[in-house]
This record gives sequence, structure tokens and C-alpha cells, in this order.
Amino acid sequence: MLIIFLGPPGSGKGTQSLRLAADLGIAHMSTGALLRQAVEDDTPLGKQAAGYLDEGQLVPDELVVELVVARLGEPDCSAGCLLDGFPRSILQAETLDVYLAKRDLQVDRVIELQVNADELRRRMLDRSKIEGRSDDTPETIAARISVYKSSTAPLVDFYRERELLRSVDGMGTPEEVAGRIRAAVA
Ligand code: AMP
Repeated sequence: MLIIFLGPPGSGKGTQSLRLAADLGIAHMSTGALLRQAVEDDTPLGKQAAGYLDEGQLVPDELVVELVVARLGEPDCSAGCLLDGFPRSILQAETLDVYLAKRDLQVDRVIELQVNADELRRRMLDRSKIEGRSDDTPETIAARISVYKSSTAPLVDFYRERELLRSVDGMGTPEEVAGRIRAAVA
């Protein structure tokens, strides 16, 4: 089973996707977390990715795809995986389709979390106080929202056309949102 989470930064993708993966007993992959780890470990890939993360820009596709392919090949992904933060562009989505088709797999469901702009900003600034992520500054948050609109939001139509999309209201308590997501994947 392969489930993709889409949603702007601050929409609750991380929290909700981890929760759903645990509920369904499938693996979870956050490309943002994998990239942050690579930067922290100062790997060759991390060195190349660091500047993009700091500026809130997308890391080049070939670097991200390398991480995703390695992660999907790990044993815990054989029963399924929940993708948080990938794909983030049409090109990445097409690359994923090719990868899956070669293995007789497919995307089963795409969940889009919808949260209004004021709430997104509020949640991200709150998070920056708690987690201290270096890309949670007001400037980088604005860049990431803008990258989402230009590069990632087109995936909503891409997956809607393939009849895989379920849009979920991401406003409310984490429990309320989790309940809506469960209904959307049932
Ligand atoms: P996230 O934790 O999902 O908010 O991602 C944090 C940052 O990691 C993003 O702002 C990008 O710089 C980078 N990133 C995460 N996923 C991708 C991806 N699929 N393609 C390119 N860059 C990514």
C-alpha cells in the first residue's frame, strides 16, 4: 500500500502521516527528515542539499530521488509506505510512477490536507519555537509556501485526474483531522 500526503508547510502532514502510518502498520518516509539527517551527518548528499533547505527551496530532483529509492528499497517498506513530502513536483510524481510501474506497484491514495493561510503561518511560527528548525524563520516560511504553490500544488490536479485524490479539512484538533483522514483512506 502506498499513500501520499500533500499539503502546504504547516498543514500537519508530518504529525498526521506518522499517526496514519502507525495505525495502518506501514512504513513512513519523510523526505524533509531524511534530508535534514543527511545535512546533520554531513554526508556528500547532505552537503549538496544544505543550501536549498536553508532557503526553503526544493532540493534538486536527482538528490531527492536517490534518497527515496534507497528508502523504498528497505525491508519495512515491503508492506507499504506513507510518503510525507514526496513527490513535490510533477516531475517527481512521474519519476515515482515509473519506479513503481517497474515493480508492478502503484499509488493507492493521495491525501491533501487543506488549511487556510493564516492558520499555516501561526502553526509554523509556533513550531519554530518548539522544534527550532532552521527553516522555520518568517522569510523561509514565506519561500516554502510560495514553492508549494508553484511546484507542488499542481499535483492536486495531477492526482485528481487519476482519481486518487481525497481532500481533507486540516483545520481543527489533531484528533478531529485524524478521524477525517481515516475516513478518507477507508
Ligand atoms: P519538509 O520537512 O517536508 O517541510 O521539507 C523540508 C525541506 O526539505 C523543504 O523545504 C525542501 O528544501 C526539502 N525537501 C523535502 N522534500 C523534498 C522533495 N520531495 N523535493 C525537493 N526538496 C524537498
